[in-house]
Amino acid sequence: MTAPATPVRLDRFMARANAAYYSGCDPFADFITAPEISQMFGELLGAWVAVTWQGMGAPAPFVLAEAGPGRGTLMADALRLLARVAPACYAAARVHMVETSPRLRDAQATALAPHADAVTPVWCDAVADLPPGPMILLANEFLDALPIRQFVRTAQGWDERSVVGEVFVTAPATDLPVGGPLATRDVPEGEVLETCEGALVIARQLGRRLAQGQGAALFIDYGYDGPGWGDTLQALRDGRPAWPLARPGMADLTAHVDFAALGAAARAGGCATWGSVTQGAFLSALGLFPRAAQLARNQSPEVARQVSEAAQRLAAPDRMGGLFRVMAMTPPGMTELAGFEGCAPIAPSPADMGKGG
Ligand code: SAH
Repeated sequence: MTAPATPVRLDRFMARANAAYYSGCDPFADFITAPEISQMFGELLGAWVAVTWQGMGAPAPFVLAEAGPGRGTLMADALRLLARVAPACYAAARVHMVETSPRLRDAQATALAPHADAVTPVWCDAVADLPPGPMILLANEFLDALPIRQFVRTAQGWDERSVVGEVFVTAPATDLPVGGPLATRDVPEGEVLETCEGALVIARQLGRRLAQGQGAALFIDYGYDGPGWGDTLQALRDGRPAWPLARPGMADLTAHVDFAALGAAARAGGCATWGSVTQGAFLSALGLFPRAAQLARNQSPEVARQVSEAAQRLAAPDRMGGLFRVMAMTPPGMTELAGFEGCAPIAPSPADMGKGG
């Protein structure tokens, strides 16, 4: 992809750049995600699926979906766990992968091949294309890849950033998104506020779906939960931070997830939300450390050290455990959800309707 010669709105630039990046490059050469750090991550999410499915009344069949599954590692690890400890859930799961990159779809098919006897995965392009019925959706580092817009607060209102060449240009915003954080946040003049309409649309759709039927959705990503602002756009190229506007399509572009806006959009759709909690709290509640101890037992000191280091990396507050947050969406009225013990769900409320943040 060539750098734009005339101004292109940031979200359109990011959409094109990431589509080119995910279909042309190997993202996992540039960054490592939680499921790639350790099998424990996918296994614990598999355990979460089993417990949540039981709590839904064990519907069979049900849609087990993952959005942005990367190499397919998380789903493969989750399915292996289900096959072993929750065979009824495993048998009931109709696996759906939401993935736009043909290259990553191939990698996911390879990762799921060991389950070919029991599981026939289906691919789709968007969360909205998932079939109806009871559903459990997982998404790790999916929302951070969706295109954002950046607005700069002015005395009069908002300017918006576009990209030309390898630099930003700013002009008064013409079509402001309806609702979302722009409508509600008190941002100081000169500061940047980001919106991710794609994430809010998905949250609203899931909110409506979960208000009417059985299911749960779980989003794990790095981000903030509160009425924050700031420029969080970043790029990784060849494993190192890079200027986000340079060499589009050759770097992974991401932005932090605005969990407050995500939750509000989901509740505006009609579901309840849980959290966000930190990834460290969530994985610990699901039994990360006992599982690590079990994996390390009877292993060489080197393997035991690696397992312990992986658990620390995933859960320590100053590492992914604190940087990443976890939010769930469920039908209203549920009183318990694994991993969110001690955290009351936030009910849908008319105050959220149309606000999204
Ligand atoms: N969840 C994986 C991969 C994260 S990378 C892991 O934890 O390892 C982001 C993933 O989202 C990739 O699979 C990428 O192809 C996918 N993706 C990015 N934008 C997308 C979009 N608009 N629709 C569907 N998938 C998308």
